[in-house]
Amino acid sequence: QEVGMALRTIRILGDPVLNKVCREVTEVTPKIKILIDDMLETMYEAEGVGLAAPQVGVLRRIVTIDIGDGPIIMINPRIVSADGEQVGGEACLSYPGKAGQVTRPNHVVARALDENMEEFEIEATELLARAICHEIDHLDGHMYTEFVEGDIYDVEAEEEE
Ligand code: ZN
Repeated sequence: QEVGMALRTIRILGDPVLNKVCREVTEVTPKIKILIDDMLETMYEAEGVGLAAPQVGVLRRIVTIDIGDGPIIMINPRIVSADGEQVGGEACLSYPGKAGQVTRPNHVVARALDENMEEFEIEATELLARAICHEIDHLDGHMYTEFVEGDIYDVEAEEEE
């Protein structure tokens, strides 16, 4: 049967679920498949480049990312190597309207499982590297606000199209 995708509520900084460590996924059950579909829909609706399961209140190690090159779904992701450095503004759907400067590696290699529980490796630089680091942090209960250098600042809401 068809199960329609649904938007989930994005948890906001201060919600204790954002400070918890997520459990690994051992099987992609129908419930997990629905969660992934909902995460993608919720991420696109919010115009974010990434979303981690705890941001929708689910303590499982799943992230979705799309920096404009199509969706990337990472289950149990981990960074296997990181080098270089990039300094730039970072924001989070769980802290709307705010941003802050965070230093991240400029190049990462990460491994994760796909929706078929098959392992893949992804090599990323710049924005994608930043997004992977940011989302994996969420799975360990960390927000970028813990790593901000200087002040957190207000960002203009993007104009509605
Ligand atoms: Zn975030």
